[in-house]
Amino acid sequence: MATLTKDLPHNGTTAAAIAPSIYKEPAPIVDRDNPLESMMQRFDKAAEILALEPGIYQYLKTPVKSVIVSIPIQMDDGSIQVFEGYRVIHNDILGPSKGGIRYAPDVNLDEVKALAAWMTWKCAVVDIPFGGAKGGVRCDPRHLSIQQIEKITRRYTADMLDVFGPDRDIPAPDVNTNEQIMAWILDTYSMHVKRTEPGVVTGKPLVLGGSKGRREATGRGVMHSALRAMEKIGIKPKSATVAVEGFGNVGSISAELLAAEGCKIIGISDISGAYHNDGGIDVADAIKYAETHDHLLDGWKGGDKITNEQLLTLDCDVLVPAAREDRITKRNADKIQAKLIVEGANGPTTAGADPILESKSVLVVPDILANAGGVTVSYFEWVQNRMGYHWTLEVVNERLAETMNGAFDRVFEISQKHKIPLRLASYVLAIDKVAKTLRLRGIYG
Ligand code: NAD
Repeated sequence: MATLTKDLPHNGTTAAAIAPSIYKEPAPIVDRDNPLESMMQRFDKAAEILALEPGIYQYLKTPVKSVIVSIPIQMDDGSIQVFEGYRVIHNDILGPSKGGIRYAPDVNLDEVKALAAWMTWKCAVVDIPFGGAKGGVRCDPRHLSIQQIEKITRRYTADMLDVFGPDRDIPAPDVNTNEQIMAWILDTYSMHVKRTEPGVVTGKPLVLGGSKGRREATGRGVMHSALRAMEKIGIKPKSATVAVEGFGNVGSISAELLAAEGCKIIGISDISGAYHNDGGIDVADAIKYAETHDHLLDGWKGGDKITNEQLLTLDCDVLVPAAREDRITKRNADKIQAKLIVEGANGPTTAGADPILESKSVLVVPDILANAGGVTVSYFEWVQNRMGYHWTLEVVNERLAETMNGAFDRVFEISQKHKIPLRLASYVLAIDKVAKTLRLRGIYG
């Protein structure tokens, strides 16, 4: 059973104090829809359009492997605490499974299962030879020292030695995990297999074989998807207004790159609050502020303070939810004023909100397409590691643009052909690809 660290004593040296880059902040525990149910509702609709055989439907809806481990850690005061860790491999029919690891107090198996399935569909949408996985450790990094986070990471990795591997399952950063944590995973794995194995993780520091452009890749992919979608519905970037929810890796870089394309960013937010400025937010200033304030916008003076709920319903052309799951639900979907939603986060819109947004003719570029830039450059990183070679930033960015735009066009074509929203079209494209591969490979046993 997991033990939350909320009230645990520590030596006063928290990850936030020692290494702010490791600490973002835990997600709040809120009243949430079940992301697994949301994923399955979309999967079922796509399966119906594809007339998927019952056996293949059954096969694709269930993860191939779910591992739960107990992670005992000696805390800084000598006491022992036990944390719960998960790794779910949803599918590995297209290649080694790929997916991030998140550290948060509310991570649970259903969430990890949904995120793992989304990774399968995401890799298939952008046509990279990976299956889908996700991992998590139920802990609150805010109340852990850097040493405790390192111990958790190394023990979790040791417990997953039979799961991870450059040809089997390749983790990456996600919420509250970062390059340093990937470096510890690489080191622990490499010590056990008795050779340095850079391809076992992606999103690692450049010096350990990380890829140029990986840090910005998800936000860059969001920017490409947003521009492609704006073009389809006649929004000119130079006259577009944009609100961005979440100001971490994905949100801040999406905002920065969309601003560089001429869009006016009129709202930004993070867990500490939201800011509105009709005259246009100075994104570079907000990034600088967050960098020097524990990764938070709290106290920033570049806009009027509004609530996080108000940010989502601002009068703007484009909304980029880039925080966590379940932000646009049937409770607030009817109040959304944006004409276009580009999902930087995984699962920010619940299945219950889909029909409401459709009835309002809001175009939604779904997560499994819009935020696939991250896994695409993770794939490039893995390819470079296997070649023992580095690509330039220009090459990485050019190939990323090609991949994102190609995927958008394929999804758009399916959406036109079947007269279905982009989300459903993305699922149709992905499930069809995985199902075709499965039919060809057949069932062993
Ligand atoms: P992050 O931890 O760097 O940033 C998350 C941001 O969201 C923070 O600014 C946080 O303060 C904010 N936030 C949290 N709850 C909020 C709330 N209720 N209202 C407003 N802001 C809130 O994480 P990230 O890497 O940017 O990931 C964000 C989302 O994008 C997650 O859903 C993640 O799974 C998804 N994603 C990330 C990547 C990647 O490469 N980092 C790739 C694909 C998808």
